[in-house]
Amino acid sequence: MASRDRYSRKLECAKCGASGFAEASENDSAKGGNRGFTIDAMPKGFSTERNSSDPAKHMVRCRCGNVFAFKQKTVYAPGSEPRG
Ligand SMILES: [Zn+2]
Repeated sequence: MASRDRYSRKLECAKCGASGFAEASENDSAKGGNRGFTIDAMPKGFSTERNSSDPAKHMVRCRCGNVFAFKQKTVYAPGSEPRG
């Protein structure tokens, strides 16, 4: 029996600034295999553009038309990395 890891993640559209929290879940024990990622609830104004079991490839569409990956790498501006 695989346990499911549930969490919420903030989605934020870089284009229009809309944001909201999505409820997602994935298999706790899967390592390197299928994580079984699914979005259980989408925040208002967002919809699924393309389903994927990989959160980095699961595409979300904002109501303004902007499409982006559910899980994005955190991008820091040059020279502004967080300091310990
Ligand atoms: Zn938007």
